[in-house]
Amino acid sequence: MNSVLSVKNLQVVFSGFKALKGIDLEVGDREIVTIIGPNGAGKSTLLDAIVSKSPVAEGKVYYQGKDITNKTPYDIARMGIGRKFQNPNVYNELTVFENILLALKGTHGIFASMTAKLTPQKKNKIIHVLEQIGLLNYASTPVALLSHGQKQWVEIGMVIAQDPKVVLLDEPTAGMTPEETYATGEIIQSLVHNHSVVAIEHDMEFVKQIAERIVVLHQGEKLAEGSVEEIQNNNKVIEVYLGREKIDVDAAA
Ligand code: ADP
Ligand code: MG
Repeated sequence: MNSVLSVKNLQVVFSGFKALKGIDLEVGDREIVTIIGPNGAGKSTLLDAIVSKSPVAEGKVYYQGKDITNKTPYDIARMGIGRKFQNPNVYNELTVFENILLALKGTHGIFASMTAKLTPQKKNKIIHVLEQIGLLNYASTPVALLSHGQKQWVEIGMVIAQDPKVVLLDEPTAGMTPEETYATGEIIQSLVHNHSVVAIEHDMEFVKQIAERIVVLHQGEKLAEGSVEEIQNNNKVIEVYLGREKIDVDAAA
């Protein structure tokens, strides 16, 4: 595979506790990789380590063949890896349009971007992002008035406004209604025309909707990797999930 993102033997240690015990992960161009696993498996830590928000104790992260291990989060974002966190990080008082404007590359600070003249290129770009996240009709709505799910889409929009090659999404459907969850799946499937996507998720219906390749983490290790069908029939995965928390492999079959 021609990998855009390549993680080799990644280890993260928090004061003696091994949160990641040597993870390998390959993400191809315009591919969706879905990461599942019980609470505490190390899913968020893996995304954090890729963007240097968690310290890498050992192992390497390569982006387009370049070693980016322990570069600053700022440099990594600028190089083309965008990360959406679990809780939306949006400006509630500003409109949807203004939130996307603030996220555009080359935009510096709220005051400068609100007072600077908006070029047609920037305006078109924002409109394109709003179309992608399905919020064009809400362009002039203050984010505070949006539903929880719509706020999550604004944040996805803020990530893609920066033209990342790789988009990392940590539980993008958390707290969403089933309708919003399905719409999020459609957004992610449209993203993959231009981006590679790594999504952490625990809603199995959603995983089945978007997944091309699934990676299962458990106690800081990679338990399994494969298609939806392979994962559902994997005995180790069934053992870990049987009778446990939200992912029910049987119910998803
Ligand atoms: P997941 O996202 O799969 O639920 P996390 O990656 O958040 O799991 O956490 C993996 C393990 O690492 C958990 O045991 C968690 O308590 C621990 N952990 C995560 N972040 C920190 C931190 N900053 N300091 C100490 N321990 C942490
Ligand atoms: Mg997490």
